Amino acid sequence: MSTFKSYKKRLREAARDPKISLALERAIRSFRKNIDEALRKFPHTLELAEVVRRIKEESISRMEELVQQTCQTIRENKGEAFVARTPQEALGIIDNIVGSGKLIVKGKSLTGEEIELREHLQERGNEVYETDLGEYIIQLLGSKPMHLLAPAIHVPKEEVARLLSQVSGQEVPPDIKTEVATVREILRDKFFRAEVGMSGANVVAADTGALFQIENEGNVRLSSSAPPVYIALVGMEKVVATIEEAFKVAEVTWRFAGYAVPAYVNLVSGPSKTGDIEKTTTYGAHGPKEMYVIFLDAGRSQLAKDPDLREALYCLRCGACLYECPVFAVTAGHFGDKYFGGIGAIWTAFVSGDLIKAAPLAYSCLTCGRCKERCPMKIDSPQMCLELRRRIAEESKPV
Ligand code: SF4
Repeated sequence: MSTFKSYKKRLREAARDPKISLALERAIRSFRKNIDEALRKFPHTLELAEVVRRIKEESISRMEELVQQTCQTIRENKGEAFVARTPQEALGIIDNIVGSGKLIVKGKSLTGEEIELREHLQERGNEVYETDLGEYIIQLLGSKPMHLLAPAIHVPKEEVARLLSQVSGQEVPPDIKTEVATVREILRDKFFRAEVGMSGANVVAADTGALFQIENEGNVRLSSSAPPVYIALVGMEKVVATIEEAFKVAEVTWRFAGYAVPAYVNLVSGPSKTGDIEKTTTYGAHGPKEMYVIFLDAGRSQLAKDPDLREALYCLRCGACLYECPVFAVTAGHFGDKYFGGIGAIWTAFVSGDLIKAAPLAYSCLTCGRCKERCPMKIDSPQMCLELRRRIAEESKPV
């Protein structure tokens, strides 16, 4: 079956799946209520989003320089930093740090999904636990994430109860509170026994080397502080010049993710340290003794040079556009693979380095423009999908 035919079949099946429609209907309703409330409470967010758009324009135009500066700053903070030009290079660097046979706890990371990090680490003989609740459900299902921020958006509580009953060996009822408590119980000792913790970052400040991690569950906080070694994998596009700018990017990101304020914003800039004995700075206090940051290029520097598609790099990964997308509303993450929706088409084309791979997504976009209306960066994904289609047609032209 051709790629297109099997993709269309998947979309049709997803659109008829009652579990997907039930879970999405609940999620979309709740997201819209949350974001409306958050924006009503903090109306300055809309103006702040315009400021952040300008910050992203400037930082993407200086991406390479800012990433190099960040690496330098992280080293000054006694961490180690690398730039990986390809997924293979990133995985190689991680292999050198981790080795095999380790217990690893991992926060949700789209960049990790992009390079299939968990699968790779498991193949190397490591025991890896996804610690984001949704991502943990996905790991148990042996499935793939269906949304940037809510990977298990398509799984209703009844299905979660069935999975957790299997894993815990006791009957877990389809009650969300009990389900959350069960996962907490299962993962609790993994955090403290893990030899390596991993996560991504939402934004990084070049001047201080500070990684910002926005979260609600506390799992990223534990993954980046309990194990003795911490590794962050971050897309190059996440770097901005100053910590002040990073705060602005972070606020707009969480607000458009539907939160008035998240439970936690972690700032990590180096290994843990203390100066409490004779004012002598010593590394490796209660948190990690070692910290490594890997910045992934994988097509991003090429995208930054593309005047028609560059704005895809301004994406904050807030996920708001997906809740407005009529195709996503009936198919969930089947409209994409790792990167979803119209914006996902551009990302797929560049990170895979294969225009044709992005064709199913570019052609499923209805170009209705609802995503652009909701997007804090006003990214014109429909227009970029049209441009992508033009390039795909050009590339597929018989010679
Ligand atoms: S395209 Fe816009 S709305 Fe969608 S995830 Fe990116 S920043 Fe958020």
